[in-house]
Amino acid sequence: MIYFDNAATTRPYEEVVKTYARLSEEIFGNPSSPNGLGLKASEYLEKARAQIKRTLKLGEEFELVFTSGATESNNLAIRGYALRHQKEGRHLITTCVEHPSVENVFRELEKESFKVTYLPVDGEGRISLENLKEVMDEETTLVSVMGVNNEVGTVFPLTEISRIVHAYPHAVLMSDLTQRMGKEEVPYPALDLFSMSGHKVKGLKSSGLLGIRKGLLLDPVLLGGEQEYGERPGTINVPLCCSLATALRLYIGSYDERRAKAQEINSYLREELGKRDDLTIVSPEDATPFILNFALKRTKASVLIEALSDKEIYVSTRSACSSHAKGGSSVLLAMGYPEFLAENAVRLSFEGTESMEDARNFITALNTTLDELKTMK
Ligand code: PMP
Repeated sequence: MIYFDNAATTRPYEEVVKTYARLSEEIFGNPSSPNGLGLKASEYLEKARAQIKRTLKLGEEFELVFTSGATESNNLAIRGYALRHQKEGRHLITTCVEHPSVENVFRELEKESFKVTYLPVDGEGRISLENLKEVMDEETTLVSVMGVNNEVGTVFPLTEISRIVHAYPHAVLMSDLTQRMGKEEVPYPALDLFSMSGHKVKGLKSSGLLGIRKGLLLDPVLLGGEQEYGERPGTINVPLCCSLATALRLYIGSYDERRAKAQEINSYLREELGKRDDLTIVSPEDATPFILNFALKRTKASVLIEALSDKEIYVSTRSACSSHAKGGSSVLLAMGYPEFLAENAVRLSFEGTESMEDARNFITALNTTLDELKTMK
């Protein structure tokens, strides 16, 4: 099997699964209980939090809240911050290529009479910093820009963006780091809020984090107990939090080797794909090497994906979360691609442990499949 769909989800590390299974039996107490088992669970929880801070090289400037993943973190951060600070301003800014778990929160806030500016992108998926400067105003409280685009891999210049945002006293910068953590360096000092997802870093599904710069206040989106600084009420799954700490330690710990491998595979695939005239490469040259997107000019991506699946080769059309939505990829459309190409994009995504043999086998299978599909027409 060849699995090139790691931006959709990754296979968890064996150690992560084992940690979760073992601790689920051993550390089952409720960390909010005052008894010995509860205290033990609470100790494990705080150890996991401290370990993640060390892994991410975060100082004391961030509070880390355990959540069920990036969707929840994005909702808590964006809605929570916008509502809490609405007296300071009701203007919010984001890009038009965000994941639905960011975009739809802004769409909802618009219905609640917030003004939202969606920054357009160019043909490589980049926003213009000049444009950001122009739209920022005294009413802007929150700017949300993803770290790496999940469909095409464009890397956003968070440090430069932060300089523009922080020139305004009330404005903070939020970043959805789901596709950036462990794939590209993260300039944490530039950020005020961030989200990530465990299952994208070889952790378990329904685990994730919300990072909040200390002192920043958010309105709670979920109402309940005082767990997780009151930001995320509900009984905490301590073994899951520990499994996330393990996943991040292993994933970030192997960053250099994985990135070099992803780069090697990506360069080879880019060169081979470039030889075909029935597709066009969408990911910019300097996109993260972990994501490579190309669009088919004459074939339906859904047909190709099904044919490849029959050969146990797994790739995606676009973001798994919007792959059932009708019409072309909103990211490619925003980049200016015509409808047919936007509808027939193929995304390859790596974890950086694949072999060159996988890459060569993929190209052979792709070439034969595309040629077969052509003659079937
Ligand atoms: N943001 C981005 C950029 C993503 O790629 C994803 C996952 N497709 C999410 C958010 C949602 O993450 P989760 O599955 O943890 O809710």
